[in-house]
Order: sequence, then structure tokens, then C-alpha cells
Amino acid sequence: MSIELLISAQDFWWKKEKVPSSVPVTPKESGSRTSAKTLQTEKEKKGGASRIPKCFFWRNKEHPAAFKESSNEMIDFGSERLPGGLPNFGNNCYVNASLQCLFTAESFCRELSNLVDSSTCTLEYLFLRCFVVLLRLRNSSEVQGDHKKGLLLKALMKSAAHYNPEFTIDNQNDAHEFLCYCLTQVEESGRKLGWQEDVNPRCPVTSNFKFKMWNIITCSSCGSQQNNNVEVFNHVSVPLKHDSVDQCLSDVVNKPTLLERKCEVCGGESASSRWTFHTLPRFLILQLNRFKMTRHYRVEKVKTPVDITPELQINCFPQSHTPGIENSRSEARETDRNALGGSISTYRLISVLNHIGRTACYGHYMSDCSSHNSDEWKIYDDDLVRLSSETDVLERRSTSAYVLLYERVSTG
Ligand SMILES: [Zn+2]
Repeated sequence: MSIELLISAQDFWWKKEKVPSSVPVTPKESGSRTSAKTLQTEKEKKGGASRIPKCFFWRNKEHPAAFKESSNEMIDFGSERLPGGLPNFGNNCYVNASLQCLFTAESFCRELSNLVDSSTCTLEYLFLRCFVVLLRLRNSSEVQGDHKKGLLLKALMKSAAHYNPEFTIDNQNDAHEFLCYCLTQVEESGRKLGWQEDVNPRCPVTSNFKFKMWNIITCSSCGSQQNNNVEVFNHVSVPLKHDSVDQCLSDVVNKPTLLERKCEVCGGESASSRWTFHTLPRFLILQLNRFKMTRHYRVEKVKTPVDITPELQINCFPQSHTPGIENSRSEARETDRNALGGSISTYRLISVLNHIGRTACYGHYMSDCSSHNSDEWKIYDDDLVRLSSETDVLERRSTSAYVLLYERVSTG
């Protein structure tokens, strides 16, 4: 059946059909709806769920007043308009920015396209089919196809809203939540189509975005390791407490946090907990904590500028034995490499999803995306696409960067 026929059958079908029980619709209060958990520090866990609060977004054209203080974030649109944009029906800049960011993850998109092409085309998998056809239209060199893009985008959003009512077509929403929803939806659909975790046909979310982390708890008195759990994630949530992204990340990963915990070996009452990478993904998603809940339950935007690190060096420890906390970073790297079989991977920035605007209640999402096999970057601002550069992104996005997408380029 063609995609057009499926889309035309969509409304009729979904009015009759109930939400399948195999697709989890996580209640709001339980935290992230992603199937792989958000990495939280122990302190955040104690303080309750750090769910990204709900935000409301309008297009900048409609609310220019919201952007007066953000002029540095807006890049001059004097250059030629390029193909590849996605239409905005009023409130879906969060969808467009999330999709454009994911479309930059080339091997994910290629694997997903191949799998979808060899799968049955039914309404149940309409989300996957729309994602892949939109991706192809985005990457084609023609400016035409706007009508079809609109049709596909609306069908994709209806499909998302069918399984998760928060994404109804007229609602504004959070771009990071939608991005994670896309990954979950691909996984859920793939599971029904027989895609596997470790063998072919392998789920492209698992092979491109998933990674494992150790949570290691070490007694402060005798040094015995008491609880080495491995957990699976699809992104790291990073508090903005330092000047640069790599410093912010090292606050979450490899940094010990003190806990009150009785040691079974020596009876000591304090321990340190730390998270380290056990496996690394091909694409690493970092969500910068740009929104916080105040004491009075109001959502505030965190406008702290942060230097976007274009290249990250990340340690990975396949075994649970990690260097002692007293080790300096360079000593730790040596110990890691030489004695414990660890490795350091280099990640390159390939996309930045931005929230432009002063407050959590007004704003606009857009994404900067690198081009494969070229130094060129493009700004995807709904249907407007303009040329940019990495220098522009690094200089101008320090207060707007919300989600960063990195690709692994080498493993040492
Ligand atoms: Zn002990």
C-alpha cells in the first residue's frame, strides 16, 4: 500500500483502534518517558525525578518580542534559501528541530531506511515510514515536495499523538522529549517487526544510540566495591555547572559522589558512587539542563552560557575496575589504557538543537546540522534552511544549545 493511501486511512482507522498495550504510555509523574533512562546523579535521584518540565513555544515570527535579548543567537538569514526544511503548522518547531537533529545521524538513518524498506507497510508502522520518507525528501536536492512533506509530517505527528496524547498536533512541546520519543517509537515498532538487540536484523536505535554505564559504589574506608550495576541509556542529561560542555559532562561521568551507606566488609558508613561508561554509542546525545523547576514550581530557563566542546575525549571501562578516585585525569587515562583494558574514544559534534528565547514559556526551536563529507553546516529553522559553519555554531549557540549530538570518529 502506498504511503498516501495509508495516510488517508489513518484518521478512520485510529478512531476505531485502541492504544495497543505493548506500547507503554508512561504517566507524567514517573519521569522520563524514554525506554532507556536519563542518567541522573545520586543527588538528583534523592531530590526526586528531574523530568524536563513542560515548555511552550511559539514561532519567532509571531512573537518577536520574546527574542529581543536573543539577537546574538539569531544568525543572519541574508544568504540563499536551501532545500531540506520542514513546514511549521503553528506549534511544531519542536518536532522539526528534533527530526533534523536525528536526520544528521547518518548511519542510524541508513540502517533504519533499509529495515523499513524491507518491512510490511501498514498503519501500525506509519511513524517509521513517514520518518524515512521525510528523511529522503529532506536529503533530496529539490526545493519542491513541500505539500508531501506537510502531509507526511502531519501523519507522523498524528501517529505520535495516537500513542502519546501529549504530542497532539496543536500542542507545543519539549524538543528533547520528542527526540527521545522518536527513538522509543522506532524501538517499539522494530520489536514487533522482529528487530533484535544484538543480531541482525538489528534495531538501529540499539546499534547507534544505546550505551551501558556502570554504577560503582566504593566504600570510603576499605575501598571495597559493593554494587556494580550496569544500566542502559540513550542519552546523558548534563547540568550546566561549568564553563564548557566537557567539564559539565565530567561532573556526571567518572566523578564520585559521597553517599551514606554501610559497608558489608568493614562496617564503614560512607561510600562513593560513580558512573562510568561500560560501552560507548556511535552517536552520543547530551541534553543540557536548560530548564529547571523553581521552589514555587515554575519552570525557568537556565541562560548560563557554556562553551560547546567540538571534540570530546571519552573514557570507557569495559570492566568494573576503575582507577582510584585519587588519580588525576591523565594518570587515570594511563591506568585505564595500560592495565585495565579501557579505551578513549573521540567524538565530534555533528548537530546542536537550540532553544532560542529568554524564558521557558516563550521561544523557538531550531537545529544546526553538519553535512556528511563536508565542513559545511546548515541551520534548519522550520522551512528556512541556510548555510552556516561550525565556527558560527560554536560562537553563537552558547546560551541556546539544548541537545548536542556527537558522533564517534575514533577509538584509541
Ligand atoms: Zn568498607
